[in-house]
Amino acid sequence: MAAGTPSWLDNIAPEIASKLHSDGDAVARFATDYGGIISAAPPAAVLRPSSPEDIAALIRCANRADSPFSVAARGNGHSTHGQAFAPGGVAIDMAELRGGGQRIRVSAEESYVDAGGEQLWIDVLEETLRHGMSMRSWVDYLYLTVSGTLSNGGVGGMVFQHGPMVSSVLELDVITGKGEMVTCSPELHSDLFNGVLGGLGQLGIITRARISLRPTPAKVRWLRLFYTDFDSLTSDQEFLISLRDTVGFDYVEGQVLLNHQQVDDPNFFSIEEAERINQLTAEFNAMYLLEVAVFFDSTSLVDQKVEGLLQRLSFVPGFAFSKDVSHLEFLNRVYTEEEHRKSSMAVDPSKIRHPWLNLFVPKSRIRDFQTGAEGILQNINPTGVVLLYPMNRNRWNENMTVVVPDEDVFYSVEFLWTSTEQDWKNLEAGNNEILGFCHRQGVQAKQYLAHYKSRTDWMEHFGEVKWKRFMQLKQTYDPKALLSPEQHIFTN
Ligand SMILES: Cc1cc2nc3c(=O)[nH]c(=O)nc-3n(C[C@H](O)[C@H](O)[C@H](O)COP(=O)(O)OP(=O)(O)OC[C@H]3O[C@@H](n4cnc5c(N)ncnc54)[C@H](O)[C@@H]3O)c2cc1C
Repeated sequence: MAAGTPSWLDNIAPEIASKLHSDGDAVARFATDYGGIISAAPPAAVLRPSSPEDIAALIRCANRADSPFSVAARGNGHSTHGQAFAPGGVAIDMAELRGGGQRIRVSAEESYVDAGGEQLWIDVLEETLRHGMSMRSWVDYLYLTVSGTLSNGGVGGMVFQHGPMVSSVLELDVITGKGEMVTCSPELHSDLFNGVLGGLGQLGIITRARISLRPTPAKVRWLRLFYTDFDSLTSDQEFLISLRDTVGFDYVEGQVLLNHQQVDDPNFFSIEEAERINQLTAEFNAMYLLEVAVFFDSTSLVDQKVEGLLQRLSFVPGFAFSKDVSHLEFLNRVYTEEEHRKSSMAVDPSKIRHPWLNLFVPKSRIRDFQTGAEGILQNINPTGVVLLYPMNRNRWNENMTVVVPDEDVFYSVEFLWTSTEQDWKNLEAGNNEILGFCHRQGVQAKQYLAHYKSRTDWMEHFGEVKWKRFMQLKQTYDPKALLSPEQHIFTN
């Protein structure tokens, strides 16, 4: 161990000590994440586990230590506000468990996949597609880990119909904050199962998730429709998410194009199409995009279905664009867009900052929210992507820890800013102004991927009933509050 490291590191059981790394290079990466805006002390050491048993042994050491140390699993480091940091404690490099390909196993007969918590969705998807199957609901971006996502919820354009990704989980293996390895499901240790899903890493480390699958049509018709009017966009979105099962689209999302933002996606639009759209965006301060998709096997049937649906929507005539792609190409679209964005940036990607704000906004206040937020953002002139699409609350399981507004329909509004080292504070200030606006105007929005620093804010976030339940679960499963300290829920 390097000089100056804490004494507890010398008292770790030898079989685990050999897997801990504390040199500067090893720990530095674990004090950075995708957001790039939070500075924290690095962990004292990084565990490179060979198996889930190593993680359990580490957590048992942490419990036995004279002064217990904190432990945080790092999935793929895609948090934006340091939520996976473990300053002065031990960060678990979950990626170490990824090698070997043994930890993704599909049962086509029973329609599920068993995936290690450390796995990336892209690898899980590729394996399930080999069996002609896929999950019901997907996040937009597949380079996130199974457990990092399930610790939050997992939202995307299929949630309106199938719920967030946590809704498709059948069973979990969890190592609790006491170092116990527990298999849980809706029937077995259901309190832990529900608590861990959306549980922000507070109750245990997920090492395996069993997730239900369904047969997947080979192709996807992917459409983008443009609107110059917010109310037309939202009423079309709300209409579409009210349709059930086979009648409507399989995927519904949307975007706000602020401050004459131009479209730049050669993977989707031809040069001529992009020019025509950008002439329109030049005319309007804000424009809106409805993104929808149908999964299909037969071209003639999809033609009929899409035509019927388009007739009922009020996008700008002539501004509907469509493309047929494979299932994989569709689900991996954001990665392709990200790569294009990065390659066309003049700045070194490591210098980019991402001060994101993700909110769930009740449908009844979405118009007020939009007016307030667009006003605030006009003065800031941000760059990035703003997603906006509605979801049905009855697709969320109230028993899980993840928190949503108390209204039948609510919107996911995602301000996914990209900024320079110099500018991010302006954007973070803009985000705070938006939160302040919600507070003043009584817009009962809930943060997704929340990053509060005070217990009072967390209590308000969860609401009385959920907070009480979450506290009891914490007492039961991580009584020394060792896990994921930088969520600042039980450690402030
Ligand atoms: C480019 C990009 C696109 C995104 N797209 C979406 C999207 O479409 N939908 C969506 O819902 N979210 C999306 N997110 C947010 C994403 O869900 C979160 O960033 C989430 O944290 C997953 O990232 P990760 O796997 O790297 O986990 P990390 O950021 O490493 O970890 C997140 C939290 O989970 C804990 N954790 C990690 N592994 C485990 C484990 N095995 N057991 C228990 N706790 C664990 C960590 O300690 C931390 O508290 C996106 C993020 C980025 C950067």
